[in-house]
Amino acid sequence: MIQDVIEMVREKDAGQPEFHQAVMEVLTTLEPTVDKHPEFVKAKIYERIVIPDRVIMFRVPWVDDRGEVQVNRGYRVQFNNAIGPYKGGLRFHPSVNLGIIKFLGFEQTFKNSLTTLPMGGAKGGSDFDPKGKSDEEVMRFCQAFMRELYRHIGPDTDVPAGDIGVGGREIGYLYGYYKKIMNDHTCVLTGKGLAYGGSLIRPEATGYGAVYFAAEMLATRGETVQGKVAAVSASGNVAQYTVEKMNQFGGKVITLSDSNGTVVDEAGIDQEKLAFVLDLKEIRRGRIKEYVNKYPQAVYYEDKSVWEVIREQGIKVDLAFPSATENEIDRELAEALVKSGCYCISEGANMPSTLEAIEVYQEHKVLYGPAKAANAGGVATSGLEMSQNSMRLNWPKEEVDSRLHEIMKSIHRACLEAAQTYGRPGDYLLGANIAGFLKVANSMMAYGIV
Ligand code: NAP
Repeated sequence: MIQDVIEMVREKDAGQPEFHQAVMEVLTTLEPTVDKHPEFVKAKIYERIVIPDRVIMFRVPWVDDRGEVQVNRGYRVQFNNAIGPYKGGLRFHPSVNLGIIKFLGFEQTFKNSLTTLPMGGAKGGSDFDPKGKSDEEVMRFCQAFMRELYRHIGPDTDVPAGDIGVGGREIGYLYGYYKKIMNDHTCVLTGKGLAYGGSLIRPEATGYGAVYFAAEMLATRGETVQGKVAAVSASGNVAQYTVEKMNQFGGKVITLSDSNGTVVDEAGIDQEKLAFVLDLKEIRRGRIKEYVNKYPQAVYYEDKSVWEVIREQGIKVDLAFPSATENEIDRELAEALVKSGCYCISEGANMPSTLEAIEVYQEHKVLYGPAKAANAGGVATSGLEMSQNSMRLNWPKEEVDSRLHEIMKSIHRACLEAAQTYGRPGDYLLGANIAGFLKVANSMMAYGIV
């Protein structure tokens, strides 16, 4: 039955390999739910859950600084709103296509369900590349994008947020234009600036959450993050705050990267060095190789990912936080990572490990926190931003952080409980998928055939 659904997706959604991969990863672990829930089979829940509620694709024309007309593709995939309004980020990156947005929206449905908050799953974005563009060009693009998106979103309909290439600057431009054309100051985006409705800890949330999740996994073996050496890939939002929380917990992060190369700093990327990275990436919008100009004891490897450097240089790490993009770790790199001593992986990025890499983690009994559980802190805190906006109140930093921490602990518990109930103790992947799925599936059942 499950295999038939996978085959259907392969045939009907041809040419979308990332979406196929996400469907395979989720559905194969849902196999044990089929026998326990014949009502799901009868209501064709498995067939229905892999088809988005709606796919919106649009043209985004804009004018660059030279006065030339540019055109990009815009997407919003509203995947499933069974448990709440659609929620999920916008990605601006040249690699964006329909299959990638569908994989992200599908994953988001289960992730949002795990957060304990009432949020459905969606994702959107564009093949626009903000890299190398002036602030004015980014602003004109964001305005053109919102000129179409505004009619599909709303505080109780669909609430987008950031993702790769969409940070505070882009959210500001998108929100400003929405407010202008709708004459409405309402929570239609999260990740907003603090002065106009944002939440404290939202920028930190995904990275902090990934470390909280790793800490929970380590605790099952009676260990803590204190004194552990970690590899972090990328140097964007998720990577930056993963480093910060690792430092606060007494761990040591020795790598960062971007799409041009990797930096290894065996002395550890402390708070002062992290402040340099934040300025480099968020203000000056420079490349990570500049890190070695400032800190010459570090080594830069051009055109190498963190995982390739670990394999080639034999670098030892205890923990890994892949925080760049999908499929950054394949079987071979996973084998090298395990060989380097890594025994705990908490995924900050979405689907950073191929299906074969996950097999390697499982064969070696690595503590493996899959993305939809380990990086759910970002969207959970977006949910908290929505709550604060509805109440017209701002919670202090400590309150948001403690709610985030509690949510990450509860996600961890939910994964372990579902894994135990379905006969695979300690399997966080199966646990996350089943726990996330059941809430959505039960809600779909309650609505009848709609
Ligand atoms: P970001 O701030 O835009 O940073 C992205 C980082 O990843 C940059 O260092 C970028 O390097 C690197 N990167 C992106 N695509 C790459 C590629 N194809 N190859 C190598 N490096 C690449 O984005 P982010 O928000 O940190 O997102 C990172 C990951 O976390 C994504 O998978 C995203 O879906 C996931 N995530 C984010 C959130 C959130 O709240 N932001 C929540 C959950 C999951 P360059 O600058 O060279 O491109």
